[in-house]
Amino acid sequence: MVRINPKKKSRKNMTNFDEIKDSLKNQKKSFLAEPNISWQKRKENLKKLGTVIQEHEAQFIEAISKDFGNRAAEETVIAEMMVIQGGISHAIKHTPKWMRVRKAPTALQYKPAYNRIIPQPLGVIGIMSPWNYPLQLAVMPLIGALGAGNRAMIKPSEYTPLFSELLKTVLGKVFSDNEVYVALGGVDVASYFSSLHFDHLLFTGSTSVGRIVAKSAAENLVPCTLELGGKSPAIIDSSANMKTAVSRLTNAKLLNAGQTCVAPDYLLMPKSQVSDFANSMISQAETFYPKVAGNKDYTSIIADSHYARLQNLLEDAENKGAKIQVAGNDDKQQLAKERRIPLTILTETTSDMKIMQEEIFGPLLPIVASDNLENSLNYISQRDRPLALYWFGNNKKKLNQVLKESISGGVTINDASWHVIQEDIPFGGVGPSGMGAYHGEVGFKTFSHMKGVFFQSKFSQGAKLHPPYGPMTSKMIKLMKKII
Ligand code: NAD
Repeated sequence: MVRINPKKKSRKNMTNFDEIKDSLKNQKKSFLAEPNISWQKRKENLKKLGTVIQEHEAQFIEAISKDFGNRAAEETVIAEMMVIQGGISHAIKHTPKWMRVRKAPTALQYKPAYNRIIPQPLGVIGIMSPWNYPLQLAVMPLIGALGAGNRAMIKPSEYTPLFSELLKTVLGKVFSDNEVYVALGGVDVASYFSSLHFDHLLFTGSTSVGRIVAKSAAENLVPCTLELGGKSPAIIDSSANMKTAVSRLTNAKLLNAGQTCVAPDYLLMPKSQVSDFANSMISQAETFYPKVAGNKDYTSIIADSHYARLQNLLEDAENKGAKIQVAGNDDKQQLAKERRIPLTILTETTSDMKIMQEEIFGPLLPIVASDNLENSLNYISQRDRPLALYWFGNNKKKLNQVLKESISGGVTINDASWHVIQEDIPFGGVGPSGMGAYHGEVGFKTFSHMKGVFFQSKFSQGAKLHPPYGPMTSKMIKLMKKII
């Protein structure tokens, strides 16, 4: 793990470690002073969160676009603003029901006592977020945390400094540091943040950093939700409507220039259809984005290091024999200057290529020939469990087989990525793609302690099991055994 000097400031405008430590102390103090925030107050918090973010839509669009080099305003609205507003409306509508004390059944041998489950705020939630959807991935966990009655501290990514500063300023307009605090800084601040004694830590980011963060949190036994990445496959069955599959997959792959945790990472489809499908996706990409260079609709790769990483994946695949098709005919130097990469399809890939081993996180798309469903499912199950899985087709039997025999964080059928923004189903990974889940009620539970309470009855016969043990105990045991 990265060793850190708690006194060191990472860069200018970065948060001092002591300030972060003090904020946690103050948030914990303020939680103890008001450990069970009323629904009225939670609703106010959610409403003012929604309002202040909406009021700064233009600023968020601008800051995120500058951090990326270019990010389409519409992408920020569709994939960040609208998701957040949907999450807030859903939370406001349903949290009163989620907050209620829940009746739980009681086994006959313990009656007439009864059981209840009491949801209780945990205290202070730590939130660590990545750069790819910086607003959505900082605020969606915050909605869950506030709805469940907690305080929260957020550490956004160092790759989006303008956005992160704006987030701090905007949230500071409606929340005190004792309620919601934003820590700014680089990896040293992130590392320090992950070592703090939160009541729960939600980390969104790469699997490799997730491992470091989980270790760091484990030092204090801080429970973690890890929202990680991986290679999410899409299986295209021969029964699929190919035109629809082409347009939906091209859109999902090119949204945010492929820098989406649930972007389709690679396709599996019958060999006889690979060539037509690749050509159709290339033409579809050219229709969506007639030019990539200078196109305000097309997002840039976040940083030179990521641009170089993607070029390296491509070169490695090309050197090992992959066939490559690139959409459009933009000037290469101009593309490089703008850190933009058009849709690039790779066929005839092999498992020894880096692109078939690492999460791509960019607009490169390998198509793997697979002539039957068994082969495709086998290919997937031999690899790390993905964050998402997609299936395109119209054959119910095969669909059921996919759902039963594949393991992934979530699934969208006949499209890609949409399951992520459904507030009525959990969102999270499995195995190397994540641990735990949030969104909607599952998020409420993630950020609550679901306290089990047993209410003993004055008619309890439990005393018959007290020592000294004798014939009465034996009788009681016999009776209870009959009931169990
Ligand atoms: P990252 O893991 O590099 O960074 C995520 C966060 O970790 C940032 O806040 C960063 O400051 C912090 N961090 C970096 N190094 C650290 C260290 N040594 N110790 C502690 N914290 C550290 O991820 P990224 O590049 O920002 O985002 C891309 C990754 O995130 C991809 O793998 C993608 O699939 C994944 N992702 C997952 C989801 C999801 O919901 N499952 C959503 C978006 C992105």
